Amino acid sequence: MELKGKVAIVTGAGKGIGAATARTLARAGAAVAVVDWDYDAAQAVAGEIAAASGTARAYKVDVSDAAQVRAMADDVARDFGRIDILCNNAGIQRYGTVVDTPEDEWDLVLAVNLKSVYLCSKYVIPYMRKVGGGSIVNTASVQGLASQPNVAAYAASKGAVLALTRNMAVDFAKENIRVNAVCPGSIDTPMLRWSAGVLTPDAEKAIDDWGHLHPIGRVGRPEEVAEVILFLASPRSSFVTGAEYKVDGGLTAIL
Ligand code: NAD
Repeated sequence: MELKGKVAIVTGAGKGIGAATARTLARAGAAVAVVDWDYDAAQAVAGEIAAASGTARAYKVDVSDAAQVRAMADDVARDFGRIDILCNNAGIQRYGTVVDTPEDEWDLVLAVNLKSVYLCSKYVIPYMRKVGGGSIVNTASVQGLASQPNVAAYAASKGAVLALTRNMAVDFAKENIRVNAVCPGSIDTPMLRWSAGVLTPDAEKAIDDWGHLHPIGRVGRPEEVAEVILFLASPRSSFVTGAEYKVDGGLTAIL
């Protein structure tokens, strides 16, 4: 129960890595704000946490919308009394080169994947200051470090999340607010299954094939990313800030 008494916000927590993170932080004792624009999914995760004797509440929020994010930060602070941890995890994937990607799709990917990190941090950090510090963990991607073909907007957004992570780490270090990122490889979530369905005729085979690109020989599980996020959110990582943790089964280590 290393997070007992702490309050955590997890965005995109209705499914995939965010849902696993919400469950993992709740098991560690945190009260969790389960934030998603899919309210049914967020409520289901909050319900599971409550059924397992944890504390959680669902919030319907589009994290790319400033007014909604600001209201969410105020609501969470009012409902739980404080905010200690922010996991900026919500994200979307779209495929295309810079030539193929329509401008509105570029703007959407950058708004959901990057602007959301700015907005959530902007409105949550004042509450972290009130409690003398906090921990922010941004979900970037291996696509922020290297690139597969046809992911122009997504790769740009994730590279920028890593740059913003470093900037925020420097800006808020003296205020005891640490800011780190995780860079997952392929993780078995609804997003990965959507990608496999869009890119190939046989999603199961694609996921198996992608797994074999990772030296560990399989795609990851959401819980395996959530464990690293828990470490970065907890005081166990007290001297870690501005870091990028690859959770990729060795994908970016192999030539
Ligand atoms: P997912 O699609 O399975 O789940 C994402 C959740 O975010 C969904 O519940 C969705 O409703 C929510 N969401 C999307 N846009 C939102 C918005 N504007 N406001 C609020 N909620 C929103 O995705 P996932 O695979 O769990 O991905 C989570 C994060 O991990 C993303 O940032 C993604 O880019 C990153 N990531 C995923 C993988 C992977 O292989 N799955 C790899 C690297 C990085």
